[in-house]
Amino acid sequence: MKIAVVGGGASGLMAAITAAGAAARVILFEGNNKPGKKILSTGNGRCNLSNTALDPSLYHGSAAKLAGLVIGEYGVKETLAFFDKIGIPCVTAASAKGDDRWVYPACREAAQVRRALEMECERLGVQIYTECRIVRVAKDRKIFRLTTEDGTVFTADRVIISTGGMAAPKTGSDGNGYGLAQDLGHSIVQPLPALGALTSDNPLCKRLGGVRAEAKVSLMIDGKVAAQESGEVQFTEYGLSGIPVFQLSGRAVQALAEGKNVALRLNLWPTRIYNELYLMLADRRVRRPTVKSGAILLGMVPDKLVGPLLEKSRIDPQAPCNTLTREELVRLASQIQGFMFSIDGAKDFNSCQVTAGGIPASELSANLESLLCPGLFFTGEIVDTDGPCGGYNLQWAWSSGRIAGLAAAR
Ligand SMILES: Cc1cc2nc3c(=O)[nH]c(=O)nc-3n(C[C@H](O)[C@H](O)[C@H](O)COP(=O)(O)OP(=O)(O)OC[C@H]3O[C@@H](n4cnc5c(N)ncnc54)[C@H](O)[C@@H]3O)c2cc1C
Repeated sequence: MKIAVVGGGASGLMAAITAAGAAARVILFEGNNKPGKKILSTGNGRCNLSNTALDPSLYHGSAAKLAGLVIGEYGVKETLAFFDKIGIPCVTAASAKGDDRWVYPACREAAQVRRALEMECERLGVQIYTECRIVRVAKDRKIFRLTTEDGTVFTADRVIISTGGMAAPKTGSDGNGYGLAQDLGHSIVQPLPALGALTSDNPLCKRLGGVRAEAKVSLMIDGKVAAQESGEVQFTEYGLSGIPVFQLSGRAVQALAEGKNVALRLNLWPTRIYNELYLMLADRRVRRPTVKSGAILLGMVPDKLVGPLLEKSRIDPQAPCNTLTREELVRLASQIQGFMFSIDGAKDFNSCQVTAGGIPASELSANLESLLCPGLFFTGEIVDTDGPCGGYNLQWAWSSGRIAGLAAAR
């Protein structure tokens, strides 16, 4: 059995290792000068490769259920055992949200994960062709023919397409894999950037660029709360970024594509209910009677947010605290817990972490084989499913690579 894997990212490497471990002859084609380039950028270079509290219901897309089934077959426990076996013991560490379920290699270096996967391929005799981009895959009766950029043709009994989506195209995943799949009869659910920053035409963004603040963020779709996330929000010149924004971005982009009204509402003091916040401000007004009104927020929010919050509450920043009226404090408390930013789009694929969209579940079997072209398999981000931050997307890459690699070698 000769298996060709197109794309040496996380899922392609896992598929190649699995198939070679099951006694198949495996050739792997990678457009970059080494496999696994994207792995290097994951988890800020530390590689958040899984999540011990992974909740399969958090995957999105037409293949969300399929992802749950595949991860049910080969999940977190099996993945961690695999990494331990190839020399990468893993640990859990506190996430940006404060929970400690996010899994990292003990060395906290993505480069060592990449190298260990490459070494395992070498150990199992996977033949890796680097700087070798496949431009066409065709099936001639039972044999697949794969054509490289320089016109060389390779043959294989089975093909696994692991070319990724369109996120971070500098790492090699530029969306060309969709064309390979379409040539073989597949359709593509429109690829959209997910887990990325959102853009806003709110002029405050330019002013606040670079400021970071802890907040509970509500995604508002047509004026209703659609989802909420907490964590550190980063204000940027063009809009809002940070993990809570990333987590909400997929749904925001989808809603914008459907012509809906989208906004993010930031609660900058989520630990108290509104009345308590109002009383807290009223108490501060008394404690600092003669200083300028901005001092009422001293120590509560980043300094650069004070001016915009006072402006939005129509409070004179020069007025002494003890002149602030009840109405002004009410408006200030409302702004602190409901700082609104209309959203008009998402940053492009260059700055997002994953792609929503891809090969629809209706065209795949439970082991990720094409229902339209037997012998063809898909793994990782090219499939129409994506997960939240916290190791979900790499776990999908490992699980899908494993299941497809095993099925292809059978
Ligand atoms: C900045 C950043 C940080 C991230 N952090 C995390 C994290 O901490 N945890 C997490 O779970 N997920 C994270 N992700 C997401 C995760 O990295 C991806 O979902 C995962 O790597 C996808 O794996 P893949 O195998 O599907 O595709 P990719 O890793 O994109 O690999 C596809 C490979 O195919 C190659 N290729 C493409 N076309 C061809 C062709 N025609 N011929 C030959 N080769 C080809 C590409 O060069 C590339 O190497 C992050 C993503 C980014 C961009």
